[in-house]
Amino acid sequence: MREETAKIAELSREIRELKEKRRAVILAHFYQRPEVQDVADFVGDSLQLAQQAAGTDADVIVFCGVYFMAESAKILSPDKIVVLPEEEAGCPLADMATAAAVRAKKAEVSGCLVVTYVNSSAEVKAESDVCCTSSNAVKVISSLPKEKPVLFVPDRNLGLYLARKTGRNLILWDGYCHVHDSLTAGEIEAARTRHPGAVVMVHPECRPEVIRLADHVASTGGMLKYAKEAPFSAFIVGTEQGMLYPLQKACPDKSFYPAAPHMVCPNMKLTTLEKVKWALEDLAPRIEVAPEIRDRARKALTRMLELA
Ligand code: SF4
Repeated sequence: MREETAKIAELSREIRELKEKRRAVILAHFYQRPEVQDVADFVGDSLQLAQQAAGTDADVIVFCGVYFMAESAKILSPDKIVVLPEEEAGCPLADMATAAAVRAKKAEVSGCLVVTYVNSSAEVKAESDVCCTSSNAVKVISSLPKEKPVLFVPDRNLGLYLARKTGRNLILWDGYCHVHDSLTAGEIEAARTRHPGAVVMVHPECRPEVIRLADHVASTGGMLKYAKEAPFSAFIVGTEQGMLYPLQKACPDKSFYPAAPHMVCPNMKLTTLEKVKWALEDLAPRIEVAPEIRDRARKALTRMLELA
């Protein structure tokens, strides 16, 4: 254990030095390993990370997250070097929609507007009118003209939640995040029995029956804000388990319990400190997006940021 702590300290020191040398900024998602979050300049949810990526004056962005996030950073900051320490860190939800399938659906529902969750590929974003994240999706959907049909891609659970919140009749894509979709109503009830009095907060990527049982539904950034501000001392957390670390760090006097032990995204855990160091040394693996795709995808992302 002491050896592991010393190794983390040494790698973190090397990373900080390399970061200065490369004029790099390290952005990390809340689902990353604790030691990766600790070495980052900024830790946040998808929206906050996109905002950081769009506004940074660093030469290099090291993105500790999954592929679509680094791709979004490249789309928003095309002149910067964007590196993803683990190239294989994908998102199965993002893979559930392809540009060809979205084009086919658009042809079927003529005149529809396409709202795409940021958990999607650059090609799919390029087919979209506007992007959203779980923290600004209600605002994005509510801003659209009421007479137009709206296709929501690719998360059906988030889409169902948004349809209820906004009163819009959304056409839903049949995609899901396996981490959130696997949480069951029975597991929420069992967690309440284990931790009586704890407040249940869940992510809107969870199934409708899980959302119905929750006390609070929020994006990861929203959960952090709620935990800090709400007058409760114990929380059951229905999202990927990496989130427990920033919650506990921000609220050391409160208690946080995972809703279920299986809520772990293997892709989010692929990034290690070693890989962050190598990425800074080699400035690789680099993320590139073809200009034609990039420019169209940027329009959808920029519209989202303007509404955020
Ligand atoms: S938690 Fe779900 S949505 Fe997020 S990267 Fe993993 S699979 Fe994709």
